[in-house]
Amino acid sequence: MANGLKPAWELEQEARAINATDWEPPPGMVKRQCDWCRYFFAAPATSHEPRCPDCRTLTAPPRVK
Ligand SMILES: [Zn+2]
Repeated sequence: MANGLKPAWELEQEARAINATDWEPPPGMVKRQCDWCRYFFAAPATSHEPRCPDCRTLTAPPRVK
């Protein structure tokens, strides 16, 4: 790419490749596998959220003010 930016599909592919490797969650966080997309993500040890932030965003009910 002339502008140095990678296409979204390539970034997605890279993220998945990195995600597939064995990584350690930050201190105080636990490693979880998303129930929906099978993606590994770090969640607070106190959280029982079974979905990754992406899926949570996608499925979050609209906020009513
Ligand atoms: Zn997910």
